[in-house]
This record gives sequence, structure tokens and C-alpha cells, in this order.
Amino acid sequence: MIQGVILVDWNGPILDDHFHLNRNGRFLDAARDFLRVGGTDLVLVHCPDFASPPVTRKGHAEAYADTIAMAEQVRELGLGVRVILGPHPAAFAHQFESLGDRAEENYWDSIETALHYVHEGLAHGIGEVGRPHWPVSDEIWQRSNTLLLETMQLAAKEDIPLQLHVEGESDETYGELAQMADKAGLAREKLVRHYAPPRVDESYTHGLTPSVLAGSGSIEELMNTFESASHGFMLETDYMDDPRRPGAVLGPKTVPKRTRQLLAAGLDEEILYHCHKDLPDRIYGCL
Ligand SMILES: [Zn+2]
Repeated sequence: MIQGVILVDWNGPILDDHFHLNRNGRFLDAARDFLRVGGTDLVLVHCPDFASPPVTRKGHAEAYADTIAMAEQVRELGLGVRVILGPHPAAFAHQFESLGDRAEENYWDSIETALHYVHEGLAHGIGEVGRPHWPVSDEIWQRSNTLLLETMQLAAKEDIPLQLHVEGESDETYGELAQMADKAGLAREKLVRHYAPPRVDESYTHGLTPSVLAGSGSIEELMNTFESASHGFMLETDYMDDPRRPGAVLGPKTVPKRTRQLLAAGLDEEILYHCHKDLPDRIYGCL
């Protein structure tokens, strides 16, 4: 060891704020990978069957029940797991075409079923919900925005967080979502922006909670902006556990690795503790 160099390690909590699991993927092995490198907590987000998302209440309930069962299996490994359930926009928005006028009804069936599990204490928020992140007609864009606003109103009434999956390219996205939250009477921090860019200063995030995609390029921007954040940030991989696209996303060990790199880059332990423990407790409730 070179004299004068202090080797730092992080033995505190490490939470990945957006993680999917698939029984036909690596499933528990992926969770074990996370655990082995120091991961302590996962936010397990429901992943729909994109090829045929449910169109009945029973279908929604069964699909969610399986995600809840997976969470329980992951807890048995020794990880803390929070569960987020909801109609994924990439699955749902196509139902405007396939279901026509029944699309809204199916959306609410899906939301109400998710809410039922939240009330039972088996889920901790609704998501990922949002707007199509690909070009759509004006009509579908309007219908998506209406549903999103009404979902925010429901979240305000229920005092629950929403994990949002929204378009990524525009600088206006955060500001528009903040306005919608205000209109809905929902505290802005209850909107967790999944797949967020690493810029976390408040002038950019408008007080939403950024769940930053922990790519290798995220360190510099996080280090440049964390001091101006409104109330912190979380880190995520958006791990997909998709056997057909194994390298398409960040792997399960990424958040622990990035956490140590942030520490080595000079990020205070206090900030990391806030990121992995205090902020998740504040947004989702304590486990
Ligand atoms: Zn996702």
C-alpha cells in the first residue's frame, strides 16, 4: 500500500431502485450476484408480459401475485425487497390500439389491483407508469397524459409514490411532470423518475426524486450536481433479467460497484447513506 493513500470501502446499505426479475431468466442467481457484492435492498418492479399484457382484473391480479411471490423468494436470500406494481407504458400504450375504448378501463383495473396489494402491505408504490417514450399520435399522447394526471391524483389521495417511466431526451420533461404533480396535489418528491439522467441539481429535477441509471458515465455528472439536489437521488440498473438480451442493460452488480466508485471519487458517506437508506425510507416507507 502506498503511504498516505487511505483505502476506503463501503459496508453500508446498498439499494438498487429499479430491478426486474424473470423466472425464465437468471432470477435468484441475479439477486445472489447483487447480494454477494454487498447489495442489501432491491426495489423489484413488476415486469409485464409485453407480448400479451393482461386485459382482465383476474389477469392483472395473477401477474402481480407472481411478482409478489418472487419478492418473497428474494427476501429469503437475505435482501430487503420493496415491490412496485403497475401498468408499464410500453405494454399499456399499445392497448390503446388493441383495446380501443376499453383501454382506459383496463388501465384502471390494473391500477386498482396494484393499489389493493399496496393496501395489503405487499407492495410499496405504483409503477412503472408514464407516457409512451416513442412517437405516438396526438390523440394517444393526450389520453396518456390524462391517465397520468389522474394517476397522480390517486397517488396524492393514497399518499403513495409513483415510479415514472417517461421519455428521456427532453429537458422539459422534469418541469412538465412537476407541473402535473402540483396540479394533482401530489408532493413532487413522490414522483420517482426511473432511468433518470445523472444530472440531479434541483434546477433540472424540479424537486422530483431522480432514480439515476448507474452507467459508468454517471459518476462525473453526479459529482458535479449532487450538492445542488433538492433532496438527494437514488441509483438503479433497470436490470431486465431477459435471457434474450443478456448484455442489453446494466448487470445486477452495477449499483454496488458504482457506489464504491462514488465513494472513491470523494462522495461523502453521509450522502451515500441518504441515497441507499434515508431517501428510500422517506419515499417508500421503512421496511
Ligand atoms: Zn423497468
